[in-house]
Amino acid sequence: MPGVRLVLRSSRVVTPEGTRAASVSVADGRITEVGPYDAPVPAGARLVDAGDDAVLPGLVDTHVHVNDPGRTEWEGFATATRAAAAGGITTLLDMPLNSLPPTTTTAHLRTKQETARPQAHIDTGFWGGAVPGNVSELRPLHDAGVFGFKCFLSPSGVEEFPQLGPDELESALTEITGFGGLLIVHAEDPGRLAAAPQRGGAAYADFLASRPRAAENDAIDRLIALARKLDARVHVLHLSSADALPAIARARGEGVALTAETCPHFLTLAAEEVPDGATEFKCCPPIRERANQDVLWQGLADGTIDCVVSDHSPCTADLKDGDFGTAWGGISSLQLGLPAVWSEARGRGHTLDDVARWMSAAPARLAGLDGRKGAVAPGHDADFAVLAPEETFTVDPAELQHRNPVTAYAGRTLHGVVRATWLRGRLIAENGRPGPATGRLLQRTGAGAGTGTRAGAAGTP
Ligand SMILES: [Zn+2]
Repeated sequence: MPGVRLVLRSSRVVTPEGTRAASVSVADGRITEVGPYDAPVPAGARLVDAGDDAVLPGLVDTHVHVNDPGRTEWEGFATATRAAAAGGITTLLDMPLNSLPPTTTTAHLRTKQETARPQAHIDTGFWGGAVPGNVSELRPLHDAGVFGFKCFLSPSGVEEFPQLGPDELESALTEITGFGGLLIVHAEDPGRLAAAPQRGGAAYADFLASRPRAAENDAIDRLIALARKLDARVHVLHLSSADALPAIARARGEGVALTAETCPHFLTLAAEEVPDGATEFKCCPPIRERANQDVLWQGLADGTIDCVVSDHSPCTADLKDGDFGTAWGGISSLQLGLPAVWSEARGRGHTLDDVARWMSAAPARLAGLDGRKGAVAPGHDADFAVLAPEETFTVDPAELQHRNPVTAYAGRTLHGVVRATWLRGRLIAENGRPGPATGRLLQRTGAGAGTGTRAGAAGTP
């Protein structure tokens, strides 16, 4: 085929129709064909034979806190996107908080884009933020290309990003629904949190008691009721309480436009094994008991949970001070999500097809990037994660690419070594070592029309 520059061949190419031996042809950064394994290589094309390593679609991580600018000592676009590339992720969406400024106005969005542009090793887009008083900013942000809006129902942990009260939530969601946007929600009920015992200290059991399942369950019930009333599209972030799954499934069955994600740490780490004082395991909502984790896996298996995304939310080591009451809440896992999830998934009888669906196709769909990202299929960007699924490695935080070598996975032995990551047909990381920064900034599909910014699906603003 004319124009083909690269043919990537493997005995295990993970496509939307299943895993098979195939040769993937690439021209102009896009997949042109997923053909027979032994198809002749066109003249002038480079053949890369991955052997028995699996070729997955590059992962799409829609939940990353890059914190840049403003808290770059916690993380930054260069380090976060290097870690992502090393971990098989080719697209990330940055959360609107923990950077200064937060992404709550179009001016702030431009600041974020200008900061990210020269540093991005992978394709990078932005969520906007819905906070008290910025309803009039939501449509301009939508037009400027954010993928949707994040809000909190309880305190976020940073004062510049306050939560929405019930009336503010309704007006923000009414506005967002008016232009066909998406609201993504940190769903914990502030009343339930306030009523829970707040003991602080080093005991994980006390921390777990301070963030009860009921806080998530009640907030999700309230969100479902509002989504139904407004006929709105909403997404539940980082679901930890498996008790909420029946309500989510029921609402979806009744036609509520509701999706949900969970995170590698909820699927692979359990409250019973968190040592006291090990605040690298602190996040909100928290890692819960093993029995809860089993039900989350059932929710993934039956499709109630759509996506698995990192919620990578790092900080400096001194902020993980051993006291669960005061330590920063957030788990750093950008580079480890794929092997962590695969390690547990394989033991539970899941396949790489499942992992690709949860970590690539479904988050791409959530962001409206399906058709362009999230599948090894013709017409999609030639984004690949090449994985040795049977190989193991032991996590050494010093070898990770994110800024602060703190992670709850330290010392764990995981299955699945990411051999190489390809972005739009270019090798961007090999054996954990990222190459040059060739990522582009992404806009929501359809953004930019009539606003003076560049139009087009997932374009480069
Ligand atoms: Zn988060």
